[in-house]
Amino acid sequence: MLSIILPSYNESKNIQNAYIEIKEVLSKAKILFELVYVNDGSKDDTWTKIEEIIEKGKEELKESRIKGVSFSRNFGKEAAILAGLANATGEACVVMDCDMQHPPETLVEMYRLWQEGYEVVEAVKRTRGKESLVYKSSAKLFYRLMTKATGIDMSRASDFKLMDRKVVKSILNMPERNMFFRGLSSWVGFKKTEVEFDVREREFGTSKWSKWSLIKYAVKNIAAFSTVPMQFVTIA
Ligand code: UDP
Ligand code: MG
Repeated sequence: MLSIILPSYNESKNIQNAYIEIKEVLSKAKILFELVYVNDGSKDDTWTKIEEIIEKGKEELKESRIKGVSFSRNFGKEAAILAGLANATGEACVVMDCDMQHPPETLVEMYRLWQEGYEVVEAVKRTRGKESLVYKSSAKLFYRLMTKATGIDMSRASDFKLMDRKVVKSILNMPERNMFFRGLSSWVGFKKTEVEFDVREREFGTSKWSKWSLIKYAVKNIAAFSTVPMQFVTIA
C-alpha cells in the first residue's frame, strides 16, 4: 500500500480533483493507495471537502482508502507533513502537493523504484513551470540563502518524495520538531535515487507563498538545517 500525504491549506477547489487524478493513475497501474489529507487550519471549506471525499471514497474504493487529519489553526506545511506521516500506514509514503503541481504520473515511477529497493525517491524539478516574476525572484533568494547556509544545492529540490516505512519511522523518531523536510532526507543516509518531473501549473486556487513568507521560511529552515554554528540563535 502506498500512502500519499497531501498537505492542504485553503485548497477547497483541489481536494476532489486530487483524488480523481491520483485514483485514475494509480488504479490503472494497479497500485493500492491510501490518501492522507491534512487540513492545515484552512480558512475556507477545505475540511468539509475532505469529509465529503472520505465518504465518496468509502463508496467507490475497495481496498484503497481515504483519511483526513485536521489542525485547529495553520501550523505550516512542515507540520502538516509530519502529521500526515504519523497517520499513514503504507509500506511506502509519498508527500505531494494537493494542487497537483506535482504530476500524479510520477507516483508510478517512484513506486516502481521503491519496489526495486530504493528507500528514498526524490522527485526533482526538471522545469519550474510558469511562475510570476516576484515569485521567481523570491524563490531564487530563498534557495541562495539555503544553499549558502547548508552547503547543499536545493534549487531543484521539492517536497515531492517517496519514503520507505523505515525512513518514515526514523523521521518520526527525530526530536527535531522544527524540521525542513526538503533537506532532511538528503542526510539520513538511506538508499536513495531521483526522478525528474515538470512542475505543472496550478489549476485552482492560489499559491500560499509571498515574498515575505519565503524569507521567514528561509530563516527558520536555516536555523533548523544549517551546518554553520547557530550563534545568532543564542544571541537573538
Ligand atoms: N500548504 C500547507 N500549509 C501552508 C502552506 C501551504 O499545507 O501553510 C500546502 C498547500 O496547500 C499545497 C502545498 O503546501 O498543497 C504547496 O503550497 P503552494 O502550492 O501554495 O506552494 P507553491 O507550489 O506555490 O510553492
Ligand atoms: Mg503549488
